[in-house]
Amino acid sequence: MTNVHDNILGLIGKTPLVKLNAVTKEIPATVYAKLESYNPGHSTKDRIAIHIIEAAERKGLLKPGSTIVETTSGNTGFSIAMVSIIKGYKCILAVSNKTKKEKIAYLKALGATVYICPANVPADDPRSYYEVAKRIASETPNSIYINQYFNELNIDAHYQTTGPEIWEQTDGKITHLIACTGTGGTLSGSAKFLKEKNPNIKVIGVDASGSILKGFHETGKINKDEIHPYQIEGMGKNLIPTALLFDKVDEFVRVNDELSAYRTREIALKEAIMGGYTTGAVTQGLIQYANSHEFSKDDVVVAIFPDHGSRYITKVYSDKWMEEQGFINNCVHNYDEVFKT
Ligand code: PMP
Repeated sequence: MTNVHDNILGLIGKTPLVKLNAVTKEIPATVYAKLESYNPGHSTKDRIAIHIIEAAERKGLLKPGSTIVETTSGNTGFSIAMVSIIKGYKCILAVSNKTKKEKIAYLKALGATVYICPANVPADDPRSYYEVAKRIASETPNSIYINQYFNELNIDAHYQTTGPEIWEQTDGKITHLIACTGTGGTLSGSAKFLKEKNPNIKVIGVDASGSILKGFHETGKINKDEIHPYQIEGMGKNLIPTALLFDKVDEFVRVNDELSAYRTREIALKEAIMGGYTTGAVTQGLIQYANSHEFSKDDVVVAIFPDHGSRYITKVYSDKWMEEQGFINNCVHNYDEVFKT
């Protein structure tokens, strides 16, 4: 029997690569998107949820009825909630108030308890989702705190799965890896594996305008002046996560809300791939990178598309939302014209 599984968790990983044929056509390389929306929880975070939870089980930290606590912009929570159902755990999540209502509804549909916390307070403020999650974990008996930003198993999940998959899928021909960085786990773990196979592979991180990760990579310092609110969820940070291995990243590019939003919509219209907001961000990051770096026709680029667009219907795919942001070209279908201006 093929493709038959004991439960939904058997579908995690082994996501497909799909060639981009239109959006990145100006880049002479072959560009593949790794579609992490093909995980059963529809994002890359399924990989870390199962990896971290099963490691805790092996250490005897979890037993049926235990509670799993985490901070999340949505995707990690969805994955933890999914794994918790199958394995019989309670799931408590602290999310930022930037998270759209439908994402919160998804989490609740999977039985999670959700706390909504202000996004624009410092990480050490007692109201921040980090502090709220820490407090809940310390007050709840038989609980673990996943702490994805500071958990090396986050890196390890991608070192053991995403990296090897990319290596095999490209027959070892990959020359560039590019991914958005939130915790940094996806890029760091994949990069660590791939650079062990071939140290010449270029690793590019995509940071959000309003985040300090690119600046920290370049200067080794946190520049608080770079911090400002932004709309893209799941990438960029106002603190330095240890799940981000800065030494594995060759260069960061920084993308803004507006161009990432157009790019997300363009990918849906031209490639028929409906990705989340960071799908547009990583592609925008690649196009910006290609403006100042040479590519050849033998180059093989893998861009990680972290999640599915269904979670962003009232955000980046909504003309009304685009208009509210002041993104004037919201209804334009000729994106070639948009990016020229
Ligand atoms: N895109 C989305 C939509 C995400 O939820 C995340 C995870 N926060 C990322 C990108 C970045 O992944 P990572 O945390 O592994 O850096």
